[in-house]
Amino acid sequence: MNHRAVVESSPLNGLSDRFGRRITYVRLSITDRCDLRCVYCMSEGMRFLPRNQLLTLEELARVGRCFNALGVTRLRLTGGEPLVRRNALWLFEQLGALPTLQELTLTTNGTQLARAAAALKAAGVARVNISLDSLRPERFRAITRGGVLQKTLAGIAAACAVGFERVKLNSVISASRNQDEVLDLARFAIAHGIDISFIEEMPLGDSARRAEVYSSTQIRRTLEQALALLPTDERTGGPATYFRVAGTASRIGLIAPHSHNFCADCNRVRVTAAGQLLLCLGHTVAVDLRRVLRAHPGDDERVKQALVAAMALKPWGHQFGHTDAVAVTRHMNMTGG
Ligand code: SAM
Ligand code: SF4
Repeated sequence: MNHRAVVESSPLNGLSDRFGRRITYVRLSITDRCDLRCVYCMSEGMRFLPRNQLLTLEELARVGRCFNALGVTRLRLTGGEPLVRRNALWLFEQLGALPTLQELTLTTNGTQLARAAAALKAAGVARVNISLDSLRPERFRAITRGGVLQKTLAGIAAACAVGFERVKLNSVISASRNQDEVLDLARFAIAHGIDISFIEEMPLGDSARRAEVYSSTQIRRTLEQALALLPTDERTGGPATYFRVAGTASRIGLIAPHSHNFCADCNRVRVTAAGQLLLCLGHTVAVDLRRVLRAHPGDDERVKQALVAAMALKPWGHQFGHTDAVAVTRHMNMTGG
C-alpha cells in the first residue's frame, strides 16, 4: 500500500488524518427515511430507526457548525431523502449561514423539489444532485418500487428554473435494469443544460448481484458512440472521472465506487442520520457522535475535540472486493450515498 508518512492531527490546523489528508468535505445524512424504495438502496420491508435515535435538527446544525469551525468548507446533505424530514429547510438555513462554509449542496430524489427548490436556493444551497435512473414511467416505478416519474421530472424542472449554480443528475446503471437508457439519460441532461453522473451499482454485499454490474468502461463506450467526450482534469476527491460533452454545457461523470485509485485524495467523512461518524465508506470504523453531543450539551469544544481525535482512526483506503468488506453491506440510506 502506498501510505504517506504518518502525521499528527491538531485542532489548530483543522482536520487532517494520520496520512496528511485534510478533511474539508462532510456528507451529512439527515434522515434514514424516504418516500421511495429504490431496489438497489433499500430492502422491500425496510425498517427505519426510532426517532429518538436520529440526530435532532439542532444536533445536526451543531455538527455542521463544529465541522465548519475545524475547516470543513463543503457540506452535502443527503439521506434517505433529506427533503422528507420535517423542517429540513430550517437546517439548510442554519448551515447556509455558517461563516466560512464555501458550499452547501444537496442530494435528493427530486420528488419534493417542485415545492422546495426556491427556498433551498434562498437558504444558500449552491448545487443539487438529483437521482434519475429511467425516463420511462413504468421502469421508473419498478426501480423505485412505486415512484412517479412525473414528480421527479417536475423537481428537475424546478431546480433548473430557480438557477442553482449547478444541477446534476445521478443515474445508477445496472446491466439488467437500465443500461439501454444511458444515451437517453445523457441526452436528457444535455437538453436541460445540466450535468449527469453515471454510477456503477454497488451490490451492497450481495455477491449474487455482482453479475448485474454494468461497468463505467462499458458506459463510456456507449456514450462515445454518440457523443464527443472531452477529458477534464477535474477531481473531487471521490471516485468520479469527468468529461465535457463537446458543443454543450453539460459534463458527464463516471463513478466507479469500486475503483481503488482515489483513496490518496480522500478529503471526506460521512455522518449517518443516527450520528455515527463514518471515516471510510469501505470500513466499519465509526465514532458515536450522538453520544458526545448528548453528553456535552452546549459545549462545542468537546465535540470538536472528538472530531479531531476521530481523524486518527481514518483508515488509508477502502476494501471493496475483499472478503472482509463488512461495511459494504450497510444500506445506502444509512451511509448517505
Ligand atoms: N434520496 C436521495 C437520492 O436518491 O438522491 C439521497 C440519498 S441516496 C442514498 C444517494 C445516492 O446513492 C443516490 O444517487 C442513489 O442513486 C445512490 N445509491 C443508492 N444505493 C446505491 C447502490 N447500491 N449503488 C450505487 N449507488 C447507490
Ligand atoms: Fe430513497 Fe435515494 Fe435510496 Fe432511492 S436512492 S430509496 S430515493 S434514499
